[in-house]
Amino acid sequence: MATSCRKCWLGSSVGNSDICYNKIPRSEIEHQEREKSTEKWQQQWDHTTKGLATKEFFLNIKDRLKMKINLSPKFTAMLTAHGKTRLYLHRLKIIESPECPYANGNQTVDHLMYQCSKLNNKREKTNSVYLKKKTTTGR
Ligand SMILES: [Zn+2]
Repeated sequence: MATSCRKCWLGSSVGNSDICYNKIPRSEIEHQEREKSTEKWQQQWDHTTKGLATKEFFLNIKDRLKMKINLSPKFTAMLTAHGKTRLYLHRLKIIESPECPYANGNQTVDHLMYQCSKLNNKREKTNSVYLKKKTTTGR
């Protein structure tokens, strides 16, 4: 039975207690530091009262870091609820009403993404492209 080496970073985890490594590879240290940093970031993300709109899209930091997203100013504005929606402009006292001119309530990011009748065609087109991609790639 393999025993653990107190000086060795691998210990008996590789199943061979005769081999003792007393140096930790740089890549392992980088990996461990990245993990610690991500955990700390997740804790801060879980407890902050800021970024509530963004939290609706990204609950988990690890999952977000795995995603490849081409960020643009407009995309970021929508994710942070700082896009030029009528609700945002109304909050800044730039316009009188936050309501969408096409009805169904205030013009929020969620309204534009899921409800606005003006964007039905674009939404259906986007969904069909996404579903087509999902069925062909299996993702
Ligand atoms: Zn609308």
